[in-house]
Amino acid sequence: MKISSACIYALNIPFIESFRHSLSARNHSDSIIVKITTKSGISGFGEGVPRPYVTGETRDASIAHIRNELLPRIIGTEWDAITPKQVFADISNILPCTASDKTVVWNASRCAVELALIDCLCRSAGLSINEILPPASQTVTYSAVIGTDNTARVEKSAQRCRTAGFKYIKMKVSGVKDVEHVAIVRDVLGPSVSIRLDANAAFNPDTARQFLKSVEKYDIACIEQPLPRGAPAELAALRSSSSIPLMADESVVTIQDARELAENNAVDYFNLRISKCGGLHNTVAIADFARSAGIGIQLGCQVGETAILSAAGRHIASYLLDLRFVEGSYSTYLLAEDISEEDIVFGPAGIAPILAGAGLGITVREDVLAKYAENTTLVN
Ligand SMILES: [Mg+2]
Repeated sequence: MKISSACIYALNIPFIESFRHSLSARNHSDSIIVKITTKSGISGFGEGVPRPYVTGETRDASIAHIRNELLPRIIGTEWDAITPKQVFADISNILPCTASDKTVVWNASRCAVELALIDCLCRSAGLSINEILPPASQTVTYSAVIGTDNTARVEKSAQRCRTAGFKYIKMKVSGVKDVEHVAIVRDVLGPSVSIRLDANAAFNPDTARQFLKSVEKYDIACIEQPLPRGAPAELAALRSSSSIPLMADESVVTIQDARELAENNAVDYFNLRISKCGGLHNTVAIADFARSAGIGIQLGCQVGETAILSAAGRHIASYLLDLRFVEGSYSTYLLAEDISEEDIVFGPAGIAPILAGAGLGITVREDVLAKYAENTTLVN
């Protein structure tokens, strides 16, 4: 199999309603989609979501990196018959993780190309990604996420979650004022639903301590990224002063980050996101490390990801037996239109079946890609 051409789509798919957290308010998906095509006409698709405050990648820089650095490594390369056990190692050699400095890691860019390559290799061999990541369960249970908003809308969101039967809820919080919202959500959902919080780096050590003390009584499963990305010792100090477990998100982008956090006993959980972590291989590698270090894992997502990252997330989530929480597959709950023929969203209570079709298990609609592409770059 030989890759002969590629196309990079910079999307702008509007959201049905805007989504807010402390670092960003977003009203459209700005994913980058990479399509690669073999000499015999088989295509594979990948997606990355560059975020300057997560990996340091801007969208324009990511497109340039994919075009100039990553695609030249795979276009023209001959791939023999795929060996599922070998595929991650082979791809890692060809697409190493690179960083320009401490704050820029080309992980979203790498993710888009890695997913496209794995999808294409699997399709060419008539295999599902299940052959590489064998599912440990037949269904995946997703959490609902409630964004930062005014009191009436937070309460309404909590009521919708209750009606839909979600057992796991994540709430975005942005300051001490949100204690009242946490109380309302717990009241609406009752005692049996798991509630966790995500601060997206909204606090400093003092306000974090004060906030955590104030919400302790609401049975909070954990709080994600209370402090900005920084020294692991700051998170470790906060962890030792609070009964609420801590989860790293923006603080854990690379395997080196994971090791430093573990060495410092800084957190109880890692939030792994496929785009943030640089693709399937790196996500599984950090999950394996977390397990060995006694750190729990959540599979998270980027706001506005399309069916491609949703499908990749479904495969990882069904493969990783010990995931504590799963987020993603929000698709047309957020997007005006998604890019797959198949409906990728979960059903009642957030439950969705595993995907079994060739490659990622979805069929990308190229007419929808063309409709929402702000720009398209052909590479061959
Ligand atoms: Mg987060």
